[in-house]
Amino acid sequence: MIKKIGILTSGGDAPGMNAAVCGAIHAGHKLGKEMYVVIGGYYGLIHNDIHKVEANFADHALNLGGTIIKTKRLPEFKEENVRKEAVKALKAEGIDALIVVGGDGSYMGAKALTSMGINCVGLPGTIDNDIASSDYTIGFDTALNTVVEAIDKIRETADSHKRCIITEVMGNRCPDLTLYAGIATNADYIITVDKPLDKEDLIKTLNEKYETQDSAMVLLAEKQYNLEELTKFVKENTKWDTRNDILGYIQRGGTPTAMERVNAIRMGTYAVELLDKGIGGVCVGIVNNKITHREIFEALSLERDKHEDLMQVFEYIK
Ligand code: ATP
Repeated sequence: MIKKIGILTSGGDAPGMNAAVCGAIHAGHKLGKEMYVVIGGYYGLIHNDIHKVEANFADHALNLGGTIIKTKRLPEFKEENVRKEAVKALKAEGIDALIVVGGDGSYMGAKALTSMGINCVGLPGTIDNDIASSDYTIGFDTALNTVVEAIDKIRETADSHKRCIITEVMGNRCPDLTLYAGIATNADYIITVDKPLDKEDLIKTLNEKYETQDSAMVLLAEKQYNLEELTKFVKENTKWDTRNDILGYIQRGGTPTAMERVNAIRMGTYAVELLDKGIGGVCVGIVNNKITHREIFEALSLERDKHEDLMQVFEYIK
């Protein structure tokens, strides 16, 4: 019977992580567990930065972006001897279960810890939406809203000057932020890992739009093409007065949306329920709006959904 549960956030921070922590801590206390937070992810584990917390520990942080229990990358965690230190630190506190909120790298750490005797449950925490075992990752909805708000604003200034503005969006390996924002803002062109740059098609599209529109919005997922080169290319091959913008770290922060908070609390709560039943080595997801879990090793091998239906929607609306 698990009595003490730890929780940490790992990898890139994402809005809603605090809500997941809050949900887990409350559920843990209601189910009679002692709850602990680890400050700074796996780094905090091996540095004994582990603290027992009361039920209301994260209540004030529900509306805060970032993670109040911090995150830090620790590449050395891939080494077994480093992980042994983590297990030792947890055992010294009597903690035998851990909730890990993070991306697929963090899941690898959770999987490895489980095989060393610490029951772990992973929660998908990343703005990129790149965890295939969940339709939705903690942070995605808020980041998407941030991107949409920014593109709407950029559209207003572009409209006033008849400009084409190419905006770089985060999420290089997973196109979801760019694709969803492209649909929500009626963008004119998107370039993602699933829809690589087709120069001829881009120029044809932008030239057609020049005849009927006051602005053109191109969304470029990061690392898919050099932004400056692309801007120069569009300038040279269309009549558009062409500019560019990088949204950058603004996409990471911000007040979590209501849906983000609800889903994150739901996942945090479910993680504790699983551990209470003695289930570990799994990760939690929301699939078809149902809370669910599956083995971490299985989740890591799943193929990402390419959202071909949404690509088609974008093709209609653009
Ligand atoms: P994001 O998607 O935001 O980058 P992530 O969880 O994938 O999140 P990573 O930097 O890949 O981010 O991993 C976070 C931490 O997980 C690493 O700093 C490391 O401590 C641990 N980790 C990553 N890969 C492994 C692995 N193969 N084995 C054990 N631990 C790992």
